[in-house]
Amino acid sequence: MLTAEIIAVGSELLTPFRTDTNSLWLTDKLNGVGIEVKLKTIVGDDDARLEETIRDALKRSGVVVLTGGLGPTEDDITRKIAARALGRRLSLDEKVLEEIRAKFLHWGRKMPEINARQAMVVEGAEVLPNPNGTAPGMYVEHDSRVVVLLPGPPREMKPMFESHVLAKLSERAGQVRVARRVLRVAGMGESAVDERIAPVYTQYKNPQTTILFNNTEIEIHLTAQGKTEQEAELLLDGLAGQIEERLGDAIFAFRGETMEEVVGLRLAVGGFTLAVAESCTGGLVAHRLTEIPGSSNYFMEGVVTYSNEAKTRLVGVPAELIERHGAVSAEVAEAMAEGVKRRAATDFGLSVTGVAGPGGGTIEKPVGLVYISLADDAHTEHRRLMLPGDRHLIRWRASQAALDLLRRRLI
Ligand code: ATP
Ligand code: MG
Repeated sequence: MLTAEIIAVGSELLTPFRTDTNSLWLTDKLNGVGIEVKLKTIVGDDDARLEETIRDALKRSGVVVLTGGLGPTEDDITRKIAARALGRRLSLDEKVLEEIRAKFLHWGRKMPEINARQAMVVEGAEVLPNPNGTAPGMYVEHDSRVVVLLPGPPREMKPMFESHVLAKLSERAGQVRVARRVLRVAGMGESAVDERIAPVYTQYKNPQTTILFNNTEIEIHLTAQGKTEQEAELLLDGLAGQIEERLGDAIFAFRGETMEEVVGLRLAVGGFTLAVAESCTGGLVAHRLTEIPGSSNYFMEGVVTYSNEAKTRLVGVPAELIERHGAVSAEVAEAMAEGVKRRAATDFGLSVTGVAGPGGGTIEKPVGLVYISLADDAHTEHRRLMLPGDRHLIRWRASQAALDLLRRRLI
């Protein structure tokens, strides 16, 4: 497989004020034609470091894409240093110079002499026109490698890459097509997931598997290559199936869907309705569900019963139950789920009550203790959770666990 690396040039990209977003966009485009990005570098406007970076890149990557530093000023060094690293001359291209002059003329200005630098072309390079700026790009075939120089401003870089570079690279990459899939997992830790599925996915180089933990969820990213999109998809189907055998219902999404989308879809398909009573999540479960278009078909109401008094007044939790067991208890969670279901006359009632912290924890009821409960016509169940993290994470994880409890009931 053809491999690429991206070099973003510009000292401003090494400050806290600017981010290299070009390489994200470029990676997506390169992946789309079956080229894998193996390395990204950000280099300041520094002759020696840039030269070394380009020389190293040429040793290991089939495609080297540089962005930035093609401007007219002294600190724009990419042209000069790329030529040096390639051992090629840099010479003035009269045609390019005329085009730059014409651009300035068109804007009603005289070309500043420093812009003539932008007409300096690496020997043997194909010049890439820049309709959105003055600096042309360059495409250089060097030994068996390709080096591409692109301007830094995204609005110049993107159209240039799409019009003049992508097709060439795609042809070079051959008939490789890449397909991706994101599986999402609930209710299991990262190591537990890996332990179960590593014996399967480590047997394959294609598809490639990456397990990501994004603070709140485990994601399994699969990337496959094939001669056609269909072939790549089939490879994904095969591995995804084997992973499913190992993880079962813990996988809630096979195409990157969110938990609320999955739950919403299942409610809609079954023609079920839902009401929610929340304490420590303060409406987060309701918020997440109602982010989904069409949720009015199944989500009927949500109440935030934050105080004890509200739990009694709004969803009928007996005051003496709260007194006996405390607001954070299995009994109160179940009474909330049943109460909100009764009140809203829905098929399901879902509830959350817990200690989100940082204060309010005790030895018996520490920060992170959360009860969730689900009631339907037949029965009521609850889960006791000890959730790690800060207030934000505990609330988010509690909402996830509550939605997951409902999802599993709907399977
Ligand atoms: P110019 O002719 O504008 O000087 P240039 O090719 O020299 O073009 P730079 O000077 O490196 O490009 O960058 C110009 C601007 O483009 C930067 O200030 C920044 O806003 C944006 N830019 C440059 N590189 C990147 C990058 N990797 N990701 C996102 N934006 C970038
Ligand atoms: Mg510049």
